[in-house]
Amino acid sequence: MTRPLIIAGAGIAGLWTALHAAPRRVILLTGAPLGQGASTAWAQGGVAAALGRDDAPDLHAADTIAAGAGLVDEAAAHILAEAGPGEVEALYALGAPFERSRNGEWALSREAAHSRARVARVKGDQAGAGILAALIAAVRAADHVEIREGWRADALLPASDGGCAGVLARRSDDALAPLEGDVVLATGSLCGLYAVTTTPWTSQGQALAMAAQLGAVIRDPEFVQFHPTAIDIGRDPTPLATEALRGEGAILIDRSGRRFMRAVHPQAELAPRDVVARAVHRQLRTGKGAFLDARAAVGEAFPERFPSVFAACMSAGIDPRVTPIPVAPASHYHMGGIATDLNGCTGVSGLYAVGECAAPGGHGANRLASNSLLDGLVFGRRAAEALRAAPARAVTAEPAEAAPALPGPALQRLRQVMSAEAGVERDGVGLARLIAVIDDLEARYGGAHALVAARLTAVAALARTESRGAHFRQDFPQTDADARSTRMTLEEARACAPRLSAAGAAE
Ligand SMILES: Cc1cc2nc3c(=O)[nH]c(=O)nc-3n(C[C@H](O)[C@H](O)[C@H](O)COP(=O)(O)OP(=O)(O)OC[C@H]3O[C@@H](n4cnc5c(N)ncnc54)[C@H](O)[C@@H]3O)c2cc1C
Repeated sequence: MTRPLIIAGAGIAGLWTALHAAPRRVILLTGAPLGQGASTAWAQGGVAAALGRDDAPDLHAADTIAAGAGLVDEAAAHILAEAGPGEVEALYALGAPFERSRNGEWALSREAAHSRARVARVKGDQAGAGILAALIAAVRAADHVEIREGWRADALLPASDGGCAGVLARRSDDALAPLEGDVVLATGSLCGLYAVTTTPWTSQGQALAMAAQLGAVIRDPEFVQFHPTAIDIGRDPTPLATEALRGEGAILIDRSGRRFMRAVHPQAELAPRDVVARAVHRQLRTGKGAFLDARAAVGEAFPERFPSVFAACMSAGIDPRVTPIPVAPASHYHMGGIATDLNGCTGVSGLYAVGECAAPGGHGANRLASNSLLDGLVFGRRAAEALRAAPARAVTAEPAEAAPALPGPALQRLRQVMSAEAGVERDGVGLARLIAVIDDLEARYGGAHALVAARLTAVAALARTESRGAHFRQDFPQTDADARSTRMTLEEARACAPRLSAAGAAE
């Protein structure tokens, strides 16, 4: 019998891969119940695709490459953009309720750094929930998919051929079970490693850690995107005020009502995300305050046009129709991830990765807004196609050790230090301090997933002595003429950390 396909993660990437893997038998592991614990559910803006009359995939690819600040793999960007319209059509056919007019035209929003209105939306800001509901219904109805809710991947099983033979699965009551098969990792982001995040706080780079522990190469882990307009009401995770609001004309003002982005960038509020995030960060650091003012641009239409944002604001006593929304940058998206080719292969035989935990190269140093749901669709389908055609492997699984847990207070310490030292602005001294904290926690609690993922991020950020895209070094503000991607194994990260830390601490 052909080995099953074990997919870890039930966001857009895991579910789309599962649906397209038929007729292969799929075991779908999702630690949280379906629909929960996934960034996908919270996506607001929608899916970027060249669907407008004035648009074309080449324009979409060009914007993606420009946003990525020299590190986008152009082949990946073109694949993403070319496949975009077809994937949105496919989701619509599955039941995702994208807004369309009677004559079939798509309702498209304009988001930052897009040269066209290009983001297909669902009921204003309900894209993720609408898409995920359609995907869950389809997966529940698919005979080839066995859903195991409450089971998460805890470690990868090494194979006799040096690759991956399956996963060690852990149930919510801590029961462990080895499962043999080809593996697709789709566990999403690592942004929950930060104290201020828009993603589920449980998104802590689990896939990155498991793959790295098996020897996979990690690409560009230092590139973490901070969303400039998380709603600053002291929640964990923090709710988001979608970029589409700025696309509609909402402006960023300080406490005195002054519009501050005009002085920072010619595109003002629609400048690339990293530029806006740094400007908001500096406003807050210097005590001037940062507020998203949608009173004129959206006003009375707020409850209908942006119901999620409206509800989040109102729950904190802020009526965005009449009051500017307090905002702060929050970790939001991981451009880096497990290095893969354009079909999800990690280079470790039997191990694939898709979605936010993977890095086929389409986002470079800065993801173009709303390209990530699309990434899950396009590269999820390609991985499924590759897996359908993959030759059967006859391998034996070796035992794997369960991942140690990081106690709550230790995790909170890590999250605070990640935000302080590996946030919107970094420097060598702070990153060396962060690595020392990770060393200390690892000495006490062992190599928990969160610590492994944090280490890769911190070491790569310390090694990149330039500023590029979302990675801004206060001590190295220049951008090198030569753009190079980081590719690092865990062994390399461990080996070079002491030298880098000593250099960073000495600055
Ligand atoms: C607030 C917010 C708004 C966004 N808006 C947009 C937008 O408008 N457009 C856009 O393109 N992108 C948007 N994004 C980004 C986008 O939502 C994500 O990049 C994308 O949904 C990631 O999909 P994924 O399938 O890779 O991961 P996720 O959707 O995060 O799913 C991960 C899954 O893995 C599971 N899991 C985790 N660990 C394990 C484990 N060890 N074993 C098994 N299962 C595990 C989780 O329970 C979950 O099911 C937004 C993100 C956020 C947070």
